[in-house]
Amino acid sequence: MKERTLLVIGHGMVAQRLLERLVARDRHPYTRIEVLSAEAVPAYNRVLLSSVLAGEASLEAITLQPSNWFRTHSIRLHPDAPVTGIDPQRQVVTIANGQHFDYDDLVIATGARPASLKLEGEHLEGVFTFRDVRDTEKLLNMSQRHRRAVVIGGGFLGLEAAEGLRQQGMSVTVIHRSSHLLNRQLDATAGRLLEEALEARGIHSITGETPRGLVGQRRVRAVELADETLISTDLVVLAAGIIPNADFARQAGIACERGILVNRQLKTSVPNIYALGECCQLGEQTFGLVEPGYQQADVLAHVLCGEAAAFEPSQVATRLKISGIPIFSCGQAKPGPDTESVIWQDHDSARYCHLLLRDNRLAGAVLFGETQDGPWYFDQLQQQRDLSAYRQQLAFGAAYCDAG
Ligand SMILES: Cc1cc2nc3c(=O)[nH]c(=O)nc-3n(C[C@H](O)[C@H](O)[C@H](O)COP(=O)(O)OP(=O)(O)OC[C@H]3O[C@@H](n4cnc5c(N)ncnc54)[C@H](O)[C@@H]3O)c2cc1C
Repeated sequence: MKERTLLVIGHGMVAQRLLERLVARDRHPYTRIEVLSAEAVPAYNRVLLSSVLAGEASLEAITLQPSNWFRTHSIRLHPDAPVTGIDPQRQVVTIANGQHFDYDDLVIATGARPASLKLEGEHLEGVFTFRDVRDTEKLLNMSQRHRRAVVIGGGFLGLEAAEGLRQQGMSVTVIHRSSHLLNRQLDATAGRLLEEALEARGIHSITGETPRGLVGQRRVRAVELADETLISTDLVVLAAGIIPNADFARQAGIACERGILVNRQLKTSVPNIYALGECCQLGEQTFGLVEPGYQQADVLAHVLCGEAAAFEPSQVATRLKISGIPIFSCGQAKPGPDTESVIWQDHDSARYCHLLLRDNRLAGAVLFGETQDGPWYFDQLQQQRDLSAYRQQLAFGAAYCDAG
């Protein structure tokens, strides 16, 4: 067999899925597979860092494959090897210590990094992000020595960081730019219910506010709001969006916008270079969840083996990983001019269900308090079934619709 090298940049969740898909096949075209990772540890389940911060899982428990798995499949991992440049002409990649690696096929799976808010004081000690194992260890360490935290960003990541720090005994305030928490996944009512549930367990939320700056000499001491209110704190977590890691690809002349531009076969503008996961962009779309990355990895495994396959972005349902606050959301979260709303709310038990219908087909579902029927609604959304026969029962879930 002709010698052929696959080089993978980044060893996150999606790169690992691609490796698993490749080695699960009877044969693949590579005699050598090497992985260059900026992190010190092999791929782990990044999604579960929230559970690690909350003290519900250990770092060891979230590792995706033990080291012998890589040996068994003759995959060579290079930890602490951040890539600094690609030379597409010579088909060579350079890492920070100057070492070079050649390739026949190159896969870029570098994920994304937390966005900067460009606030004055972001460089101060005590200002953190929540993206990887190192961030999580630092936050755990800080939470043992300090009492107060401010999280900037009331999306999934910010709220899970807030809950983790609360579980470590900190008093936490969340500052969120939009008028309600999780504004991309929830409507205003569900957002308010969430705010109340968090308040009840000691997480205070300030919505409709963007901090003006972070205050302190060397260490952060407070967050200043637009009206000059100061919120004293010992640490700040920035969790207000992500940016695809595409810089070195851009410098190498690979076509990029926000992310590395790919087609449905995950090919970039440069021959033999592919990109997938949070670092890539298809059309106007970038990806901030793991499921589309997994689907891309499945497609790319076929493409690398010379088979026909194409990635089709699909709807993804989301859940908040805070135990005791069940939230499910899929599809459209806010009513539009062509949608009808079916709403059911029980104020006593703080349960809420908002379904959006378009032409009697589900366009979106927001569930708070009781989410057991979430997958069933998601299925209705994906299948675009005509639900006109069940409208009376629809808000009560699958069992009532079946009975109806
Ligand atoms: C705390 C937390 C909770 C989350 N919860 C959810 C959830 O509930 N559901 C969900 O769907 N998604 C969740 N996500 C998002 C999910 O983790 C990502 O969508 C997923 O990890 C993306 O996979 P990826 O392989 O594209 O990127 P990553 O997993 O980020 O992997 C990219 C890897 O590339 C490395 N890298 C970057 N630059 C270089 C370079 N120059 N050289 C070498 N290596 C490099 C990075 O260090 C990283 O190890 C969560 C994320 C976090 C941080």
